[in-house]
Amino acid sequence: MGMSMNSIPPSPNSARIMIYCVGLRPLMNHRKIKKLLVANRGEIALRVLRSAKEMGIQTVAVYSEADRHALHVRFADESICIGPPPSAESYLRREKIIAAAKATGADAIHPGYGFLSENEDFAQEVIDAGLLFIGPPPEAIRIMGNKIAAKNAAAKFKVPLVPGTSEPITDIPEAKKLAKQIGYPVLIKASAGGGGKGMRVVNRDEEFEEQMERAVSEATSAFGDGSVFIEKYVTQPRHIEFQILGDQHGNIVHLFERECSIQRRHQKVIEEAPSSILTPELRTQMGEAAVNAARSCGYFNAGTVEFILDEKMNFYFLEMNTRLQVEHPVTEQITGLDLVRLQIQIAEGEKLPFAQTDLHINGHAIEVRVYAEDPANNFLPDIGTLKTYRRPQGHGIRVDDGFEEGMAISFFYDPMIAKMICHAGSREAAIEKTIRAINDYQITGVETTLGFCRFVMEHPAFRSGKFDTKFVEQHFKPEFLKSAANDGDQELVAAALAATAFAERTTAGTLNEVSSTRSKWKQNRIK
Ligand code: ADP
Repeated sequence: MGMSMNSIPPSPNSARIMIYCVGLRPLMNHRKIKKLLVANRGEIALRVLRSAKEMGIQTVAVYSEADRHALHVRFADESICIGPPPSAESYLRREKIIAAAKATGADAIHPGYGFLSENEDFAQEVIDAGLLFIGPPPEAIRIMGNKIAAKNAAAKFKVPLVPGTSEPITDIPEAKKLAKQIGYPVLIKASAGGGGKGMRVVNRDEEFEEQMERAVSEATSAFGDGSVFIEKYVTQPRHIEFQILGDQHGNIVHLFERECSIQRRHQKVIEEAPSSILTPELRTQMGEAAVNAARSCGYFNAGTVEFILDEKMNFYFLEMNTRLQVEHPVTEQITGLDLVRLQIQIAEGEKLPFAQTDLHINGHAIEVRVYAEDPANNFLPDIGTLKTYRRPQGHGIRVDDGFEEGMAISFFYDPMIAKMICHAGSREAAIEKTIRAINDYQITGVETTLGFCRFVMEHPAFRSGKFDTKFVEQHFKPEFLKSAANDGDQELVAAALAATAFAERTTAGTLNEVSSTRSKWKQNRIK
């Protein structure tokens, strides 16, 4: 990489003064990154490292003792151990990560998603250490990290909100009065919420007190902050989010939407772009609202504005994720853009290389998340070793993963094995490609969400585009997967039994294991 393009020194004080003088926009950093540290693990660490390498940037991986042999460690030019396996002692230790950057001479940190990616203190400490943070300004993370602050900021920019309270509430009788005004059903949400925690649906006045107490106690134990607020509960909701990109010169564009309504436990499992139900007009309106939400907090870099869409096609702002999302590849496939490269260029101070009118949707992309989870057992994590692991291949198939055959899925971290993204000319073709690729994906040793994802791809409601976030509740029964195991393919069962070292797994529930192993072999064999 070349020399620094600009001689503005990275001074923490000048950055703060700039924030003070020009609102939320901090000092522009016109400097080329020479060495990048990725403060993450697994597929996203690899994803970021690859783009950095392509840009000629030197790369540094950090790892916990559990990840000594992980692929991201092998892939990076240098690596540094930051502590024991629990993330609280390694990937969440801000000072260790900054020390690792200093020790290796890195000049920038990319946080990936999860871990420290939405921690404004970390972002500020990175800047204060004279390093570039590949992400938004800390102030934007702070505003959007609190659901109430986020809603109030967005409201000032005329972004539509779900009807509800604009202040945190603790007083139960007062809250009950407001719930009545909003009209049941209502949703009680934790201000500091995330991951669907601290959220309670209340259908009737009589249930209110009990649910409110539960929401407060859940929020207190999960986030150390018991403040909650009330929203109208949108029935038949679709979760539609917009990818935005902003530079440090005030330009913000959106890269269209992602449909993320297929969820289990309020968490996404299948995403697609574009959504099958947005009209071009609605896409323009929602895109503009997303850009305004980003403006409302002085945003730059990549971010995602989440909306909920009701059955009458009214949309409401939910929250903004101030980082790269797990599902960003579907957007990359339909726009042909490398979001990580753009994130790096934005952090370096470059202008966005395109305007909104330059951007177009090309075809359709679907991502299925391959988790080591058992869909037949309420999607509980199923930790183990990948005895067989063969990725599907072919035109328009992208697999972002962090594993090889024989590697173990650690119970210390998220049980996602891979993301498989299929891109084709139309939604129908993308669905067909996804089914073919699922059938080609061979995984044994753990249960996975692959069979469940095929069930969704084949389901008439998904195919017709008429579905909402309750799809799993309404249409999925574990028996649909088990039945594949019960139609007796003796040869297959024998092969499965021979190939799976049962001794390594718990001996309890062997019968279930036999049938699920059969089902797995049927699901994943090459057709
Ligand atoms: P979290 O930050 O905990 O993930 P979100 O606000 O993003 O919480 O909501 C997660 C999911 O919960 C959404 O994708 C949607 O399915 C559902 N949800 C959130 N708010 C509402 C609402 N007002 N009405 C109906 N469903 C909602």
